[in-house]
Amino acid sequence: MSEPKDAAARRAVPPVICYPNDTLPQPDLALYAAARAGAVKTAEVRVEPREAATFHVPAGQFFRISSVDGPQVGDLNLWNADDLTERFYSGKTRALHGTHLARGERMWSSLPSLRPMATITEDTLGWYGIDGFGGSVHDVIGTRCDPYTGNLLAGGQYHHCCHSNLTRALADQTGLPLHEAERHVHDVLNVFMCTGFTRDTGQYFMKASPVRPGDYLEFFAEIDLLGALSACPGGDCSAQHSSDRAACYPLLVEVFAPAPGALEGWSSPALNGYDRTHGRGPVAGHSE
Ligand SMILES: [Zn+2]
Repeated sequence: MSEPKDAAARRAVPPVICYPNDTLPQPDLALYAAARAGAVKTAEVRVEPREAATFHVPAGQFFRISSVDGPQVGDLNLWNADDLTERFYSGKTRALHGTHLARGERMWSSLPSLRPMATITEDTLGWYGIDGFGGSVHDVIGTRCDPYTGNLLAGGQYHHCCHSNLTRALADQTGLPLHEAERHVHDVLNVFMCTGFTRDTGQYFMKASPVRPGDYLEFFAEIDLLGALSACPGGDCSAQHSSDRAACYPLLVEVFAPAPGALEGWSSPALNGYDRTHGRGPVAGHSE
């Protein structure tokens, strides 16, 4: 394939950021930190290796995901606790914040709600930054390991991919049949996972997570949340997933409630302000 004469000039055009995010509503991290300082633990759930567990976090409370026993990656799904159709939107979160999430950034919900579901308030892996391979932690570029892709690439019937773990956990939590619960499982925040895209081929890569027991990622719940976390069968994701070969460890989820009055001035974010008419007049049932 021959290149045009001005190929170098075309490649040299500098990029522009698709979604400049300096107009995004900013979280009041100082207020959250003050509220967290006086918070008390109200619940905890242990996620067993190659399994998933669900948890509830009321709006205005915190949840912490911790590494215990050994390096382990977690796949996180979030839903509006009162409406499973409002769920974490990995793609738009990536467009707004970039490939990996850090302290102060948000997990945004699906259209038409598009509002912050949770804000990252603490990250003990915040020191990691972006390594020499272009890798970083807590990505929103992967999806979740699933048995369909496993079957496509290698055949077989493996039942403990994060997709299946999350499906079983949500079915158990809600009473929905498995095939209905499965439809609510969505692309995840890859907690602690270290990933990037190769520079030469642009392929999604993973490498051993730098997480160690005691490390944690903590969130402020902006709305009432139902969460599900899977302890990925890939363990630290240093070699492979979608099998029982990797060393796997549990993860711990803890919920903390601030003291009454500690969030003075904060309110749970409203649904997105777009009127949903799409240029064709009022929508029945839309009440703003
Ligand atoms: Zn997984």
